[in-house]
Amino acid sequence: LQGLMQPSQLLISGLIRHAALHHGNVEIVSQLHGGEQRRSNWRTVENRARRLASALQAGGLQTSQRVVTLAWNTDRHLELYYAVAGMGSVLHTVNPRLFPEQIRYIIEHAAGETLCFDLDFADLVVQLAPQLSKVKRYVALCHQEQLPKLDLPGLCAYEELVASGREDYVWPSLDEDQASSMCYTSGTTGNPKGVLYSHRSTVLHSYAACAVDGLRLNARDSVLLAVPMFHVNAWGVPYASAMCGAKLVLPGAGVSGDRLYALMRDEGCTFSLGVPTVWLGFFQYIDQNRASLNLKDIRLERVVVGGSAAPRPIIERFEREFGAFVIQAWGMTETGPLATVCNLLPQHEGQTLEQRFDVQCRQGRAIFGLEVGVFNAENQALPHDGKHVGELRVRGPWVVSAYYGNPAGSAMDEEGWFSTGDVACIDADGYVQITDRSKDVIKSGGEWISSIDLENTALGHTKVREAAVIGVGHSKWQERPLLIVVPEPGQAPTSEEILTYMKDKVAKWWLPDEVVFMEELPHTATGKILKMQLREQFKKHRLV
Ligand code: ADP
Repeated sequence: LQGLMQPSQLLISGLIRHAALHHGNVEIVSQLHGGEQRRSNWRTVENRARRLASALQAGGLQTSQRVVTLAWNTDRHLELYYAVAGMGSVLHTVNPRLFPEQIRYIIEHAAGETLCFDLDFADLVVQLAPQLSKVKRYVALCHQEQLPKLDLPGLCAYEELVASGREDYVWPSLDEDQASSMCYTSGTTGNPKGVLYSHRSTVLHSYAACAVDGLRLNARDSVLLAVPMFHVNAWGVPYASAMCGAKLVLPGAGVSGDRLYALMRDEGCTFSLGVPTVWLGFFQYIDQNRASLNLKDIRLERVVVGGSAAPRPIIERFEREFGAFVIQAWGMTETGPLATVCNLLPQHEGQTLEQRFDVQCRQGRAIFGLEVGVFNAENQALPHDGKHVGELRVRGPWVVSAYYGNPAGSAMDEEGWFSTGDVACIDADGYVQITDRSKDVIKSGGEWISSIDLENTALGHTKVREAAVIGVGHSKWQERPLLIVVPEPGQAPTSEEILTYMKDKVAKWWLPDEVVFMEELPHTATGKILKMQLREQFKKHRLV
């Protein structure tokens, strides 16, 4: 017996129509190129997105063709999110911080048809254009009078394109399983791989983000988007904000501490999200300018930290200095990205702050829709007892089934599990704790040592700004942990000081054999510590 409910499709155009109708006056604030600040709202974003869609269509863009963006967080990028997906084409957000060769590879592989770029990337685009065989048209995200003379086919100014669009354009009906957007994994091993999201996966992911035990996004939030819109759809928040009618604050090119602070204060931000390195910069700004700041001006309630393990000091400082709760989230390009989110359960009521921080240091529990499991090398499911450590697998409607351009090669096993490459345990309450990426695991005498745990412990020392732990060759134990530390500005801790601090906080045999100090650590294009490079650098280092 079939249910008798309406067969409405879950579409991205539905999200923006809803936001325009029910939250039309809610503001979208953007920092644009050259210091211009623009105040728009959901009604205007929807209207301009429709005009943009009609103009792109009139220019020859067809259903399912890819529109590439090399762009910062602005209302124009937001309009592109909705215009391109809404008309049935595919938005392909590319990370401009990748190497030019990687950018070229990704755009060619995805067969980008139109390329939209912020003026900051004009030189890069001109350099790449001769090698982008499928791109027919270039759109600079600026006003007509700002348009530089560039040697690019079909170059036009974004604002001209929007102005030329039709006011009466109507969003088409689409199949919810149709592709809507795509992102490539950063390819730290091998070539980047394309993940192709659908309207359905995006709308379901938005419900998860708005859920109370998800990110709790709601109409009373003012959201500072400190995660780039090219990093896995800014963790789905541009879509979820339309679903719930939250105000969006888009910081443009800059996520420096001073800009984030000023936007939080001036726009009454209650919610923000970003990778740990962004928050390290934020707190450094606070430390250096404390005398001139009034932290009471900040109304932050929740901060999402993800992309890498949330360092405990960040969790503590948001709580103690701003009264803001850090929600740690775990996910990846292949999972849309939200998969597990760390919120509290009834048994945590009444716990001390210290105990609560212990909970918040975990990666959280699966949101409804996603299943998680840990498996051993023999492919057996391990118990959720907080002790058994194995490979983390996930499955659900916003998890990749196959990579773009490789439809034959499924990304799932026969039971539908996607192997994440992360190593984790799951406790009896369902909290996932990531101990490592499988390639970062340190194997010492046949046992595993968690680099994430050691890093988090070292970060608890007040003189440590950043920490990375890698496995280094050892004659007896095969590998032993080496701790690499970037000290806080003006501090010069000794190895002994740090190891003494860590001694009673980790298992004795986990304690790093040596500490080395560096002025800075290498990071990936999304702000993660580039351990591959560190391993290369310390390849010849021996811990006797
Ligand atoms: P890439 O690292 O290839 O750029 P993603 O941005 O998709 O790709 O990163 C996904 C990976 O980031 C996860 O597999 C995991 O290793 C790491 N990660 C993300 N969030 C967290 C977290 N909260 N704690 C620990 N690791 C995380």
